[in-house]
Parts: sequence; C-alpha cells; structure tokens
Amino acid sequence: MKTIHHFVNGKRFSGESKRVSKVFNPATGEQSAEVKLATTKDVNDAVENAKKAFDSWANKPPLQRARVMFKFKELIEKNADELTKIIVSEHGKVYEDAKGSLTRGLEVVEYACGIPQMLKGEFTENVGSNVDSWSIRQPIGVCAGITPFNFPAMVPMWMFPMAIACGNTFVLKPSEKDPSCSIRLAELLKDAGLPDGVLNIVNGDKEAVDALINNKDVAAISFVGSTPIAKYIYENCAKNEKRVQALGGAKNHCVVMPDCDLEQAVNGLMGAAYGSAGERCMAQSVAVAVGGIGDKLVSSLAKKVEALKVGHGMDKQSEMGPLVTKEHLAKVKSYVDLGVKEGAKLVVDGRNYKIQGYENGYFIGGCLFDHVSKDMRIYKEEIFGPVLSVVRAKNFDEALKLVNDHEFGNGVSIFTRDGDSGRTFSNKAKIGMIGINIPIPVPMAFHSFGGWKRSLFGDQHMHGPEGVRFYTKLKTITSRWPSGLRSDPEFVMPTMK
Ligand code: NAD
Repeated sequence: MKTIHHFVNGKRFSGESKRVSKVFNPATGEQSAEVKLATTKDVNDAVENAKKAFDSWANKPPLQRARVMFKFKELIEKNADELTKIIVSEHGKVYEDAKGSLTRGLEVVEYACGIPQMLKGEFTENVGSNVDSWSIRQPIGVCAGITPFNFPAMVPMWMFPMAIACGNTFVLKPSEKDPSCSIRLAELLKDAGLPDGVLNIVNGDKEAVDALINNKDVAAISFVGSTPIAKYIYENCAKNEKRVQALGGAKNHCVVMPDCDLEQAVNGLMGAAYGSAGERCMAQSVAVAVGGIGDKLVSSLAKKVEALKVGHGMDKQSEMGPLVTKEHLAKVKSYVDLGVKEGAKLVVDGRNYKIQGYENGYFIGGCLFDHVSKDMRIYKEEIFGPVLSVVRAKNFDEALKLVNDHEFGNGVSIFTRDGDSGRTFSNKAKIGMIGINIPIPVPMAFHSFGGWKRSLFGDQHMHGPEGVRFYTKLKTITSRWPSGLRSDPEFVMPTMK
C-alpha cells in the first residue's frame, strides 16, 4: 500500500506518528493509499523548519520572490494534466471541472507574480517641517493553512502563493481525504527555486490542527472548511493571539425572477447545483422561484436532472462524478430521506443510482425537491451534495428576506432581465459574493474571495488585495535628519509644525 508522507524542509518527512488514515478512489471505492497523520511533535518540527527559513526568505527582494512564482506558474501549466488526474483520483470530480479548479488556483499564482507592485508602500515628504513619513507592509512570519477536501489544489493555492510571495514561510495541512495534490504542488515549487523550509506540508487530522493552533511560532492561520470547525479555529486562534481568517460552510440561493431568461437560469442552476456533485462552497442548493415561475422552473429542471450523466471523472461523457467518501454518500442520502419525511416533494430521486462496473463507487444521482419551506432542516443545513431545493416566494421582497435571514452568507445569484431588481438585490443582499445572471460568482484572483455571516469568521477575505493585507503587517516610519530643525525637549503631545 502506498504511504503518503509529509513534505518538510524540501524533502519527504515521515515523522514519528504511527497513525494513518485511508485514502480512497471515490469512483471505485478502492483504497489507493494511506496517509500519515502528524503528531504534535511532527507539526512542531515543520514549524521549526519554517521558522528557520523565514529571515532569509523575508529579506529576499520581492522581485526575486516573484520570479519563483513565475517559474511555478510555468511548471503548473506543464504538469496540469498530472495534477488534474491526481485531483480526479482522490476527489472524484470530472476531469474538466478538476482542471478548471486548478486554473482558478493558477490565477492566484499569476496574481502573486505581481507582488513587487502590491508591496509598494506610501510615502509623504514633509509631514512636518523636514520630517518624512512612509508606510510599508512587512511579512508576519510562519503562516499556516488548513484546507477542506473539496478543492485539493485551488483552496491551498488561495493561501500559500500569496503568503510566500509576501515573504512569509508556510505550513499547510491539507485534507486527509485527498492529500496528494498538495505534496505534488510543493515539489513543483521546490523545482521552481523555492528555498527549503519555505513551504512545508503536514498531513493530519485534529491533532495536527490543534498543534498548529497551539504553536506560538505560528503567526497566522488561514482556514477553509465547515462552519463548526471554522468557528473553533477562529476562537482558539484569537485565544492564542494569532491572526486568523476562517471560511466556513454555505447554503447559496439562486433567486429566479418571473421576468428572467428561464433557459439561462435553468442551465446556470444545473451547473451550479450539480457540478462537482454539489461539493462546492459556491454550489447553489436553493432555488427561490419568485411569483408564478415555480411550475415552469421545476419542470424544466426535472427533465435536465433526470438526464444528468453521472460517471467516472475520467469518462469524457460524465457531467458529475461520485461523492468523496462512503460516509459522505450516506450523509447526503440521509438528508434526502429527511426531506421526504419533512414533507418536501421529491421530484427527482437519485438515491438508488448505480453504475455498471462501478458498483462500489460513491455515486448518487441528482436529486430535486420542490415545495421546500424555510423551517425544514434540508433548507437550513448545508447538505454538500447534488440536492437542489426549490422554495417558492410570492415576490422579490420575500425572496430577499429568505436570503438575508439565512445563517450563511457565502454566495447568491439573481436571474432577472430587470436592472432595478438586479441592482437593488446586489445592494440589499447580506452576502459576500453576488451574481447577477451569473450562477457561480467566484471572484477572480485580483479581487478577493469570502462570505459574510457564518460563512466567514475574521475580517479579511482570501487572496487578491485582502490576501496581501492578511499576510503582511503595516509599519509606519517617521524620520528627521540632523541637518533639519533642531528641537528642545518637548513634553506635550507632538504635533507637526
Ligand atoms: P471540514 O471542516 O470537515 O475539514 C476542513 C479541515 O479541517 C480539514 O483539513 C480537516 O482535517 C480539519 N478538521 C476536521 N475536523 C476537525 C476538528 N474536529 N478539529 C480540527 N480540525 C478539523 O470540511 P470538509 O468536509 O473537508 O470540507 C467541506 C466544507 O468546507 C463545507 O462545509 C464547505 O462549504 C466548506 N468550504 C468552504 C469554502 C469557503 O470558501 N467558504 C470553500 C470550500 C469548502
């Protein structure tokens, strides 16, 4: 059985732990590897290496750090097919979707190539007579990232390229369900010229996460995952005086107005609800049918959901792959059972989906519920599978209230031809990322990604300008040289003359 180790100080690191977790191919249900689960000491060793590498890396001119990023970009492009196949083999999503997610990660690397421009500070000559003042942003030290299973390349790449380009060193703890992609990315970054110790990968579970939270040499933690763990990370990082951004779960709504281009809305919803088997934090899991459009929307959706091509991620015909694990499949199916019990109308039932040759894979067909109401658990909770709930709303105001009353605030879309509805919606919705006739409004790398409410704990969103702020500290220097005005001791609050 293949063992997946850690990657510390530029090489494979086995650590002292004897504990392992199984890694599966979700399409076949077969175990493909075992991954080491780091102990506290293993994590501390990785942090120690990152700490040793910090001074020299932080002092490299930003242009030199950018050149490593340029080379890394080239290597990702060269190895895109291999990286994509790794994602498919451990996550299960279909090849083109996996490749798209790698590209969205690559775009952050491209943004990080511009780091010399982004780290330029501000300068004021003569804030007072012969006194100058300037502000700079400096790296903060050893940063850590803890990432979820659903984007094994993209989410780690929201974090470490930005942190490293800003001059920090980094310890990444990827999901133990699909850890191989992170290791390969770290190898490529080493080939791109990154000094040893600047990027380290430790595999593990709660013990490794707690070790990162408790290590006083870790200055900042970026987390992406479910809301209960995001809250735990946020609270404990604050307790340990660390900077923290913790992105959590979601329940993204798509408001379908009666005046919209229905075909466009239905196609948008199909990709957003069932792409990646609904295992996206920006997946749309609730369609809000406004006014009289509900029956037409449900019948158009039903035909397409029934026709969904579910299969192995490497099969070019597949539109949707399996779920990530057997346990997750059982959880998603149990939510569909619950929806039926709660009284929602199950229009398309994908629970008994079987694929010849892949009977042990974690497949489920697309599921569609109609007449879901806001007090049902299938409406309130994140299912994270290919299950779309249609809720009916009398008018725009009722739809907007549903969106704003929900505990999550990651993404939302509205489909309408009316500019006033679109603009009012984007102005009033209490959500971090908004699409107008765009089903999955994931911001590009040069903007920043993040939700509101219980979808993000902390102040700063990921990557883009917010990423630069998160991974740097502001310092302001005020200076006067002896040739300037000499002054006597002053015992009052200094003001500039
Ligand atoms: P998860 O919360 O189970 O795991 C995320 C990370 O936390 C993993 O590295 C895991 O090892 C670690 N972890 C798990 N349990 C822990 C515990 N008890 N203590 C400490 N660490 C623990 O999430 P997941 O199932 O891997 O990913 C799916 C979730 O991530 C969904 O809720 C999804 O919405 C969310 N997500 C959010 C975003 C976003 O940008 N907001 C993006 C992607 C995924």
